[in-house]
Amino acid sequence: MTLKSQLRAPDMNLPEQFDLSNKTILVTGAGDGIGRVASLTYAKLGATVILLGRTVSKLEAVYDEIMAAGYPEPAIIPLDLQGATVSHYEQMAATIEEQFGHLDGLLHNASILGNLRPFAQITEKEFNQVMQINLNGALFMTQALLPALAKAPHASVVFTSSGVGSKGRAYWGSYAISKFATEGMMETLADEYSNSTIRFNCINPGATKTAMRAKAFPAEDASKLKTAEDLMPLYCYFMDDSSTDINGQTIKAQ
Ligand code: NAP
Repeated sequence: MTLKSQLRAPDMNLPEQFDLSNKTILVTGAGDGIGRVASLTYAKLGATVILLGRTVSKLEAVYDEIMAAGYPEPAIIPLDLQGATVSHYEQMAATIEEQFGHLDGLLHNASILGNLRPFAQITEKEFNQVMQINLNGALFMTQALLPALAKAPHASVVFTSSGVGSKGRAYWGSYAISKFATEGMMETLADEYSNSTIRFNCINPGATKTAMRAKAFPAEDASKLKTAEDLMPLYCYFMDDSSTDINGQTIKAQ
């Protein structure tokens, strides 16, 4: 069933209560911030993680960290969503099916903030850039990966929204619009695939200590913010089979 709501995270303690062994999970924006921590956490819980991002050195550092910890060997897909086309996503999907057979999880995490500015000053170039990375990338990547997701016993697609994805805010134009559209895409997919083995949900991480947050709020005391590690129970819950019945939800991680 698909419901529109802004639920809070279910009561959960530690990521360790979840078991992601034998799952293959693709994380976008895996080299930094929340995506980096999600990749490390999924690997720790036994998943084979496909690390996708635009800065190869950052992806390699996450790869090295996973290998040093003795977790399952990850794969790396260097891809800049800014220039990615449908044919890149189709090639990527073919490689994933060839190597792994199917895909159990897809975390759409990569995004840019763009520039916070008055609506009257949004430029076409900047708006298109934010939409290309935050929305179009997730849309066409999901489309290409649907066959691989359908081959999993249960597959979970998780999009990343924001507080400004359900309530607009002055000066957050391009980013806020991209997040509203992300929630709309998630709900559309959740409804369309409600009788399938693929579920679609959204996480709203809330204020989290990362480079993106520092760019948006340069003057705040970051030591008071939640860290990406604090959010991991919800990120793991959505990839775990215990969330198989959850579809069409946007859940706040905080
Ligand atoms: P972040 O620290 O800026 O990390 C963003 C990640 O996305 C980085 O790994 C970055 O790669 C990657 N990325 C950006 N542009 C890309 C492109 N063109 N192609 C491929 N990868 C690209 O941000 P974050 O705070 O972890 O945010 C993660 C998600 O949470 C985002 O969707 C964001 O909108 C959402 N969110 C965050 C907060 C918060 O307070 N932090 C609050 C609400 C929502 P590089 O490192 O190589 O640039």
